[in-house]
Amino acid sequence: MPQLATRMGRAKPSAIMVIAEKAKRLKAEGRDIVSFSIGVPNFLPGEHVYAAAREALAKDSGQYGSNRGSDALVDAFLGHIEALGLTGYKRENVSTGVGAKQILYNLAEALLDEGDEIAFPAPYWTSYLDIAEIVGAKINILPCPPEQHYKLTPAQLDEALARKPRVFLFNNPSNPTGMVYTRDEIVALADVIAKYPDTWIITDDIYNTMVFDGVGYHNFVHVRPELKDRVIFVDSLSKTYGMPGWRVGFIAAPESVAKAVTTLNSNHITSLPEVITAAAVAALSGPQDVPAAKCAEFAVKRDRVYNALVSIPGVVCPRPQGAFYAFPDISVAFGKKHDGVAITSDVDFCAALLETKGVACVPGSAFGEPRALRISYSCPDEALDKGMARIVEFFAELT
Ligand code: PMP
Repeated sequence: MPQLATRMGRAKPSAIMVIAEKAKRLKAEGRDIVSFSIGVPNFLPGEHVYAAAREALAKDSGQYGSNRGSDALVDAFLGHIEALGLTGYKRENVSTGVGAKQILYNLAEALLDEGDEIAFPAPYWTSYLDIAEIVGAKINILPCPPEQHYKLTPAQLDEALARKPRVFLFNNPSNPTGMVYTRDEIVALADVIAKYPDTWIITDDIYNTMVFDGVGYHNFVHVRPELKDRVIFVDSLSKTYGMPGWRVGFIAAPESVAKAVTTLNSNHITSLPEVITAAAVAALSGPQDVPAAKCAEFAVKRDRVYNALVSIPGVVCPRPQGAFYAFPDISVAFGKKHDGVAITSDVDFCAALLETKGVACVPGSAFGEPRALRISYSCPDEALDKGMARIVEFFAELT
């Protein structure tokens, strides 16, 4: 039998998908399951997006498109980021891809030779580790425990960048923690970044319009525009526009990086489909009331989840201020039993919770923090309240 490439020994299926699949299977068996596992928005884009897609379908040429993304799409993205305060970018600074995930994979290929170092904070989004492992990078994980609100400190960043990694990968607002860095925190980190010119900075900020409590969204280039020559801003329509399956992602980056990603596109995907492109243009340049309304709704859902979590003795949950995730430290349960079953880890906890209460959450170890679990609260209020009540009940039953 011929062999697979060695790199496949480093490639793992997503831990999130494994839980989501199990929840789906139990549901199909007739169990009453509440799934807090997968990070998908529970809303659809506005009708104008579908209208644009239908119109494009009616006249779709069916031809290949541009490797970078059509001019209309690139221009719509430039308009969108200008509204976020990211100004002065040209078409040459932009590239597109099949979701932010494919863009991140392209960036790993474009920026990292085998053995080059990439640094990123933990908790991290699971694919960061997987992508870095597939391309054979040396990985420096910077632990940010609940005690520091899952946030990277300037001192940690200084120590990491002093090693001159090729890439520092940063995510704000955070999946899985829901943390959002304040402007002052971004200034302090940007001051450190400015000291180390040899490192590319990727900011995966795909939840940038989902920020609560007036904290605002801040990027390193907002506070230090000169960092534009090293900062790669990653964005996506998936979460903020309710379009995960349309698979559209973007970067705004130094020209050389945008060009490299475009070159990889020419070999990987050729182009985004025309119908998808038309829908994406409509989403970015049409009315913005859906993302704004959803952000307000998520802030209220955050309160419901957070209030339930902090009512549980011993559970610690830094208050999420963005995206639609909460990441409680549930380690108070370790060493206890539920229904006679020993809980020794986050994985045991999530397995028992799903088995006995029908609530699916993702173990924190999938994100590099084994004391926690992730709750994705993008679901209807009724399911949310039911799921949270069952989690509270589960804790009360621990012996
Ligand atoms: N980055 C983060 C932090 C994410 O949470 C996700 C999706 N879960 C992605 C990137 C990938 O998004 P996309 O759907 O655009 O590929």
